[in-house]
Amino acid sequence: MSLVNKGMKITRRTFARQGSLVMAAGMAAPVPLVAMKPASGEKPATGERLAMFQEQGARGVVCLICPNECTLKEGELSDCRNRIVRKSKLYTMAFGNPCAANVDPVEKKPLYHFLPGSATFSIATAGCNLACLNCQNWTISQSSPDKTKNYDMPPENVVERAIAANCRSIAYTYSEPVTFYEYVYETSKLAHDAGIKNIMVSNGYINREPLKQLCRHLDAANIDLKSFSDSTYLKLNGGKLQPVLDALKIYRDEGVWLEITNLIVPGWTDKPDEIKQMCGWLASNGFADTPLHFSRFQPQYKLEHLPPTPAGILTRAAETARSEGLKYVYIGNMPGAGVEDTICPKCKQKVVDRSGYRIVTNNIHKGCCICGTAIPGVWS
Ligand code: SF4
Repeated sequence: MSLVNKGMKITRRTFARQGSLVMAAGMAAPVPLVAMKPASGEKPATGERLAMFQEQGARGVVCLICPNECTLKEGELSDCRNRIVRKSKLYTMAFGNPCAANVDPVEKKPLYHFLPGSATFSIATAGCNLACLNCQNWTISQSSPDKTKNYDMPPENVVERAIAANCRSIAYTYSEPVTFYEYVYETSKLAHDAGIKNIMVSNGYINREPLKQLCRHLDAANIDLKSFSDSTYLKLNGGKLQPVLDALKIYRDEGVWLEITNLIVPGWTDKPDEIKQMCGWLASNGFADTPLHFSRFQPQYKLEHLPPTPAGILTRAAETARSEGLKYVYIGNMPGAGVEDTICPKCKQKVVDRSGYRIVTNNIHKGCCICGTAIPGVWS
């Protein structure tokens, strides 16, 4: 029996074989349920494919995927380390060769208002278009596909594995999916044909046209808004603020379910005035109903010398966000304080009780609290 229609076919035999690789995804474990390893001696896949959104410029081939707009000469590697020019054409080196593949709880992305309690098949290739000093996945984000150990996993195989693992969605995550755009694009089209949803977990550093085109195949996104200061974006992340603000609006206007994460890094992004300004901008630009996740920094990469974010700073940030008018505010990486629960903004009852990545109770019925207030999200 075929389990998938249109464009791809999975037989019972394939299903059974892949089921043994990935296993059925229950939501008991709060960590990646399965990490698949390449067979020993397996050669890393090169994964080269003609890149989308390229044009010939006076000084080389220009990539138009993200605001970096790299101009590359023959043989040159892009800023994101996974695009290269060969015979005057730009190629992505990150197609069908993920270096990470796991079954995760959707809450880990984090997405709290999107199919709660479901599993998402999560993939990443090497590469990123920013260079955050605090990156927690720097071993893959600041690397290149020819330097990581990769799976050979073309788009149809990603979808097959997602189905075999009882995942309702595929998440493009961990490193920066903007930089493996073509792989995301082709996989997400096939996933939709198979009834699987698509999630982008991204820094939001992408140009308008590529994003609008991709949004046709996306269902949800968690976007990092790393700070509300252009100079901090430049020094901490190697990027600019405005393109991220523009991307947030595009995701929302294109009908993709959106949640936002703000990591509070001590000494960098913890200024109360700036947090207030950011929350005020979100509230006054139509994001009052968009969940905002403040996230606790843990010492990482080039900022290993800094302490974790003090709990008081996170709590005050959440209070500021609520007082600015944001209705769904969460704190991540600080379990046990009731900061992961969804509270009805009208009757103040707890509608979703979470413990880490686990759903304890979900009292949302037909998208509403029992008081009848609609809670925005994709609940079933
Ligand atoms: S996606 Fe990569 S190659 Fe393209 S502009 Fe951005 S950093 Fe440069």
